[in-house]
Amino acid sequence: MAEFTLELNDDQKQVRDWLHGFAADVIRPAAAEWDEREETPWPVIQEAAKVGIYSLDFYAQQFFDPTGLGIPLAMEELFWGDAGIALSIVGTGLAAVGVLANGTEEQIGTWIPQMYGDAEDVKVAAFCSSEPDAGSDVGSMRTRAVYDAATDEWVLNGTKTWATNGGIANVHVVVAVVDPELGTKGHASFIVPPATPGLSQGQKFKKHGIRASHTAEVVLEDVRVPGHCLLGGKEKLDERLARARERAGAGGERVKNAAMATFEASRPAVGAMAVGTARAAYEVALDYASTRTQFGRPIIDNQGIAFQLADMRTRIDAARLLVWRASWMASAGKPFTAAEGSMSKLYASETAKTVTAQAVQILGGNGYTREYPVERMHRDAAIYTIFEGTSEIQRLVIARTLSGMPIR
Ligand SMILES: Cc1cc2nc3c(=O)[nH]c(=O)nc-3n(C[C@H](O)[C@H](O)[C@H](O)COP(=O)(O)OP(=O)(O)OC[C@H]3O[C@@H](n4cnc5c(N)ncnc54)[C@H](O)[C@@H]3O)c2cc1C
Repeated sequence: MAEFTLELNDDQKQVRDWLHGFAADVIRPAAAEWDEREETPWPVIQEAAKVGIYSLDFYAQQFFDPTGLGIPLAMEELFWGDAGIALSIVGTGLAAVGVLANGTEEQIGTWIPQMYGDAEDVKVAAFCSSEPDAGSDVGSMRTRAVYDAATDEWVLNGTKTWATNGGIANVHVVVAVVDPELGTKGHASFIVPPATPGLSQGQKFKKHGIRASHTAEVVLEDVRVPGHCLLGGKEKLDERLARARERAGAGGERVKNAAMATFEASRPAVGAMAVGTARAAYEVALDYASTRTQFGRPIIDNQGIAFQLADMRTRIDAARLLVWRASWMASAGKPFTAAEGSMSKLYASETAKTVTAQAVQILGGNGYTREYPVERMHRDAAIYTIFEGTSEIQRLVIARTLSGMPIR
């Protein structure tokens, strides 16, 4: 029997170091430029594709690391480089997870390669769930998918918002309502193939942080997709809806819906992204505090500064351990009986916000300028407590799981 260890194995160390090299040599030097340009960093994505970091194969390899640590290690290193660029590189993964979680073997094989393209012609994908009136409250979703039996097509209508890569994606995964009577249980996910008429980009958002990552509205007007674009297939959907109707009749029972299955799988990974940003800011602050002299000595000689650095590092390590635990549990098939995935995302995202703010403070005036990267990291960190479920929603999930009560 293997003994308990937190020591990474040689393969993991090798992949981590390789990714760290890419993050340090390619991502970090490009970070300020793409943050200012506020555009998708296609040349960096292409570089990532050339070396094999932007591909399904790479993520599949990390995903199937039997310890569960492959994905969090990769996310931490890439986001250590820069959050906006890293999200441009891994954003396609959220759509891919949507297909992996709900799609058939055939759908996985057909659509995921089209999400990534290849090194000569890189593509991205988008996962579109949120709507103007349905953010945390996924049950308020209005985008409708109606089946047209005569042509075996689904017709999608609605407006999605805040979609990472929305409108610029080759493949969009869209969550829509198929049975409004069933709330979130009446949702299903659809592939919208490249160049499908009726799908257009609405406004592109100008953001506070992660500005290299494209975020936009996606407008769906009579978008017709073939029947085989329903993830999981119609037979499975009909069975699922029939079960949900029976349960609704019998007083209701919680059933996982399509969007939630995607979010559950991705929460510890988002925690790892936050750890990467926090660690990056901490390292800059530690270095600065050791070299910046005031009152005739390095500022780290003051407990007021040194203790902040001690707290920052302690929080980062604690956050990483929660992320690793949740990732290990997910890969070992252990149920999240205390919402450990949400715990990891909650704590790591709050840590990134706190630690990057402390880093700005430690750098003083320089921390407030774009001469130093902590200003950008602080803006970037604010996203982690918002997307993939806000901190308040994570607390709701944890509290409900712990208590079994319908806490509101
Ligand atoms: C940069 C960026 C990228 C994104 N990428 C994607 C993407 O690729 N695909 C996608 O589908 N979505 C994406 N989103 C959307 C994101 O998931 C939502 O913004 C998020 O779920 C929050 O929804 P909301 O913004 O409507 O906030 P709201 O739900 O309106 O929440 C507003 C505030 O109220 C709080 N709140 C809400 N309900 C409760 C409650 N019951 N109890 C206590 N507090 C509550 C929230 O925590 C928050 O503080 C992205 C968002 C951003 C900003």
